[in-house]
Amino acid sequence: MAVSRRKFLQGGAAAAALALTGGKAEASADSSEMRTKGLKSSTTICPFCAVGCGLVVSTKNGKVVNIEGDTEHPINQGALCSKGSALFQVANNERRLQKVMYRAPGSDKFEEKSWDWAMDKIAQRMKETRDKTFKAKEVNKKDNKEYVVNRTEGMAFLGGAGLDNEECYLWSKFGRAMGVANLEHQARI
Ligand code: SF4
Repeated sequence: MAVSRRKFLQGGAAAAALALTGGKAEASADSSEMRTKGLKSSTTICPFCAVGCGLVVSTKNGKVVNIEGDTEHPINQGALCSKGSALFQVANNERRLQKVMYRAPGSDKFEEKSWDWAMDKIAQRMKETRDKTFKAKEVNKKDNKEYVVNRTEGMAFLGGAGLDNEECYLWSKFGRAMGVANLEHQARI
């Protein structure tokens, strides 16, 4: 009997699967469950792009040990692209920056700073920038009349795909309360 190349490969793959599972073909269906058995699982959203794929993150003693697509999520139904599939390497990577590194204006080196220091510095600079650039009123060039604008063009806000709906809402409200007119989202750029 002639065996086509495709049939031969299909037969080989089936034989390999049976050999790996000790002859129990159904074991492969449980492999995800077996990988994460006894671990703490939580769901989150992929931070990379605006598709917003759902993920299941498994942790042991506070350390991420597995990340995979969330089969219950309506957007990706368990599938992930190559970037999302590689998220585990972002969580566990010795090259990942975990401390605040600050380079002062004109300096040629970075200094390690605390998170409290960084938050205070950002708040202080935002306040300074807003105070310097805030306009309560502006003359419209078209009709030469003055209008209330209450805005600053001295800074911009950029949202990211890692934010969920509620966070985006708060982010945009905060930006508008500050008078920021240049408010964008990474997904639109
Ligand atoms: S897994 Fe890929 S497609 Fe899905 S949100 Fe992440 S980067 Fe976008």
